[in-house]
Amino acid sequence: MVKAANTRGTTPGTPPRTRILVVGGGYVGMYTALRLQRKLKPELERGEAEIVVVAPDPYMTYQPFLPEAAAGSISPRHVVVPLRRVLGRCTIVIGEAKAVDHAKRTATVTTLATEEEGAGAVEITYDELVIAPGSISRTLPVPGLADFGIGFKTVEEAIGLRNHVIEQMDIASSTRDPAIRDAALTFVFVGGGYAGVEALAELEDMARYTSRYYHNLKPEDLKWILVEAQGRILPEVGEQMGRYAVRELRARNIDVRLETRLDSCEDRVAVLSDGSRFPTRTLVWTAGVKPAPVLATTDLPLNERGRLKCNARLAVEGVEHAWAAGDAAAVPDLTSDEPGAECAPNAQHAVRQTKVLAENIVASLRGAPMQEYAHKYAGSVASLGLHKGVAHVYGRKLKGYPAWLMHRAYHLSRVPTLNRKARVLAEWTLSGLFKREIVSLGSLEHPRAEFELAAGGGRPANGSKDQSAAGPKEGPEEQSADGSPDGPKGT
Ligand SMILES: Cc1cc2nc3c(=O)[nH]c(=O)nc-3n(C[C@H](O)[C@H](O)[C@H](O)COP(=O)(O)OP(=O)(O)OC[C@H]3O[C@@H](n4cnc5c(N)ncnc54)[C@H](O)[C@@H]3O)c2cc1C
Repeated sequence: MVKAANTRGTTPGTPPRTRILVVGGGYVGMYTALRLQRKLKPELERGEAEIVVVAPDPYMTYQPFLPEAAAGSISPRHVVVPLRRVLGRCTIVIGEAKAVDHAKRTATVTTLATEEEGAGAVEITYDELVIAPGSISRTLPVPGLADFGIGFKTVEEAIGLRNHVIEQMDIASSTRDPAIRDAALTFVFVGGGYAGVEALAELEDMARYTSRYYHNLKPEDLKWILVEAQGRILPEVGEQMGRYAVRELRARNIDVRLETRLDSCEDRVAVLSDGSRFPTRTLVWTAGVKPAPVLATTDLPLNERGRLKCNARLAVEGVEHAWAAGDAAAVPDLTSDEPGAECAPNAQHAVRQTKVLAENIVASLRGAPMQEYAHKYAGSVASLGLHKGVAHVYGRKLKGYPAWLMHRAYHLSRVPTLNRKARVLAEWTLSGLFKREIVSLGSLEHPRAEFELAAGGGRPANGSKDQSAAGPKEGPEEQSADGSPDGPKGT
């Protein structure tokens, strides 16, 4: 281990500097750092404070826009916010916190450079810790899931899935084998929260539109299945609107299976608890989230679900100088009548918590009184595809076009920076005037494939015809079916 270069107070005569370390560059990490750099501007300018943000990616992802990015309504680069641009007064370290020893006020961090140099992780010391690594997909020990499933939490997954779906349509259109065609056109989504429902609804809408450009595919040929273990979907919009969403999806021929679980997906066959079996090449897993693994490597207190135990001031319980919010934090819900209720892991709480979090850090540094976080859940909006939606906000229930409009207006108001708002609005306006984009750019994921072929290496196994979004490659029979030079063409 080497010490971070930027060790405080090393130059004689310089004042001691308070270093605030922010772990995570998502909602909580970015918004907290943004607010801190505004509030602490004088201290930052005088060199009395320093904010260091450690994040694996140089951008924050606005996750509620991922379904629209998958549908092609928003470009991937407009779903993300560049950290270096918005956090101009912070030091950005692109890396991953591997462990945190709060007793020693030290985080162990790996970066691309440490991996390349083989020098081992660096230790970053701090005075105040904001720990906000969010959550990851909560998987279950379902046979085959780790091999064939794909999540829907990152921009890479969303765009990979879009390319994959269109590619499956290309495969189905060019194969003569009905079994391959059937599996290619079967799309299974597990989990009926907003991530799963919105992703399925947007992709189905996009694929339905795209199918009109294929001479031998009809929208009815595509089979979309939503598997949900509970008896309802979209709990965020309430029971009545959840029932409406089920009706709306079923009216589009989407097979919504409630009180059903995925039992296995070995050999690319999704087997459900109701006994049905679906050969498929697309299995999207959005059945909940669990706290980021780094939390387990800290000496901070966790609750039984692995979230950081926090109080309503967003301070980690039982220790000093550690703060948390968002998906990683178990924050008491002061507005709930239920004893012991915690704030749900969603953006609505995450964003509002950052305000209190940053204010409290500044207050603690300046010896001022702190505030408590209390926000009554306002309800939610969800898109069910272009011009379709469902909403339940402040007791008002909306469905169809008005709900979809509200969904767009709400998220446009929430996406960070004026720059992103303008770009997203321009894209929506243009896509209203012109036809939808229907291409798969899966080959972007393998930019060297053509050159390797030209250089005599032959097309690599993961060549431009990507099938990896939902698992490893098929056997030789299927590879020839997807349009390789020797494969059968047309039907
Ligand atoms: C598809 C989708 C749609 C959604 N739609 C909605 C919606 O409509 N409304 C709503 O309220 N909520 C929605 N959510 C949930 C919402 O996005 C999350 O609740 C919110 O992002 C939580 O913020 P966070 O900062 O805690 O975590 P995140 O925003 O996930 O940020 C965590 C960050 O920490 C980084 N990180 C992880 N581990 C480490 C480490 N070891 N070191 C350094 N950095 C690390 C991650 O890479 C990430 O950048 C949606 C989520 C998804 C996936």
